[in-house]
Amino acid sequence: MTALGMPWLYRPPSAARRFFNDFIWETTDGSALLTFDDGPTPGATDAVLDELERADVKALFFVVGDAAARAPELLREVHEAGHLVGNHTRTHANMRGLSPGEQRSEIESAARVVEETIGYAPRYFRPPYGKFDASLRRVLRDLGLIGVMWTLLPYDWRSDAELSRRVVEKYFEASVVVALHDSLKSKPIARETIRVLVETARERNCRFGDPRLCLS
Ligand SMILES: [Zn+2]
Repeated sequence: MTALGMPWLYRPPSAARRFFNDFIWETTDGSALLTFDDGPTPGATDAVLDELERADVKALFFVVGDAAARAPELLREVHEAGHLVGNHTRTHANMRGLSPGEQRSEIESAARVVEETIGYAPRYFRPPYGKFDASLRRVLRDLGLIGVMWTLLPYDWRSDAELSRRVVEKYFEASVVVALHDSLKSKPIARETIRVLVETARERNCRFGDPRLCLS
């Protein structure tokens, strides 16, 4: 059995959350929020949508512009199922160290694809790999976007259902923002991980929030 050492891997330290307080780390109304990064992904997104529908949970999908351009019909499915779409850059670039112009163009280019496909430009942004710098924080402010990090990272891309279950059981709490992936790597355990999250929320009397409301 894997020991859950190094808790900062799964749960960012509260000092970081307080220091970078222009980012959202938790929901504001005590509810739990599921977020799915890196899609839309043919072969993976459908299972996520299906499991979310079964659980009657709405989520926030941080999509990559290139992926959305390759699979616009899948992005429309996400939107039409009632989920909210966020911006995760055009090419999944590590934003730390890019010039402000490059950072801006990664964000704006992804926003354009999303807007052309589903009719609105995202309000929320998540930096790939969770990496940011002072310049990115300024660019987000200039564009009127809100950065969203997370308080729980179940390492679903490792595709180890037991590891993800133990991370969820240990760190799930009120106001949690869970960072999951809509990708082929996490797909083998996607359904099970969502079920574990839904079960855990029920056991701990925590409801899932409306992604349009629970972050503001
Ligand atoms: Zn990502």
